[in-house]
Amino acid sequence: MSRRRHLLLGRLPMLGLAAWLALAWLAGCRSAAAHGPRPPGRLRVDFMDVGQGDAALVMSPAGKTVLIDGGLAEAGDTVVAFLRGRGIDILDLVFLTHRHADHLGGLLAVVDKHGTRMFLDAPYPHEIQEYNRLLILLDQRQVPVRQAERGRSIDLGAGARMTMLGPPEPPITNSRSDVNANSVVSRIDFGKVGILFAADAEAQTERWLLDSQANLRAAVLKVPHHGSRYSSTPKFLQAVQPLVAVVSVGAGNEYHHPDAQTLERLARMGTRVFRTDLDGPITIESDGGKIEVFVQGRKEVFQVP
Ligand SMILES: [Zn+2]
Repeated sequence: MSRRRHLLLGRLPMLGLAAWLALAWLAGCRSAAAHGPRPPGRLRVDFMDVGQGDAALVMSPAGKTVLIDGGLAEAGDTVVAFLRGRGIDILDLVFLTHRHADHLGGLLAVVDKHGTRMFLDAPYPHEIQEYNRLLILLDQRQVPVRQAERGRSIDLGAGARMTMLGPPEPPITNSRSDVNANSVVSRIDFGKVGILFAADAEAQTERWLLDSQANLRAAVLKVPHHGSRYSSTPKFLQAVQPLVAVVSVGAGNEYHHPDAQTLERLARMGTRVFRTDLDGPITIESDGGKIEVFVQGRKEVFQVP
């Protein structure tokens, strides 16, 4: 019954998403304002160290919070603790890029302990146990569930905007991993700064994005699929032209991520690469003109042309 309700909700038009978020945001404004720390007028993205998996926390210049993926179930406590450390009570939006365990497992703990005002799901089907448990929990907590749709744009306030570049239409089939290939790539724009969240995109996804004329140019790239050799194709990287790349990856992982050739390609472009397995959590802040990267207690600054 709970699944049915979510599927129905998922078919509701997304037209009201921005308005809904704005209302939800206003409702939560007072409690959010009581918490700190927050960089006023700056966009901040925390790429958490969740081992092998992805979890990125976005805080918009207006203070809106979006969690993109939540790592493996084992990383749930880490993500919860990180959110607490950032003074976050309830999230404005949790966005799942695709239904693999290394992206959604930790979201159970997040929804349980923090809650979210909305959940944005990746529509490509993949019903693993954790996913079904997550849907049940969202239903119990009465969290509205929407499906990500290509072209949808979410106003994050104070000039920051999040745009869904996928999922691919029609869905990609017969790839190495169709769940990865149909993961939802998104971007956030703030001033001159674009941040591209490439999820676990495969080479076919990258080709589709290029063919679809999506705006891929971005100062910061969350490298697709933990830096695997099945993505980050030369044409895709040429289109993105990242100044900074972040690889979200576990130390000594069994998949041998990131691939040496991927790193080499990025290095040849002059891109500065940060890795959660070597650097730990990576925080990026921007005023819309330059990028500041905080890792291991030091700061690196990049001017965006
Ligand atoms: Zn993954």
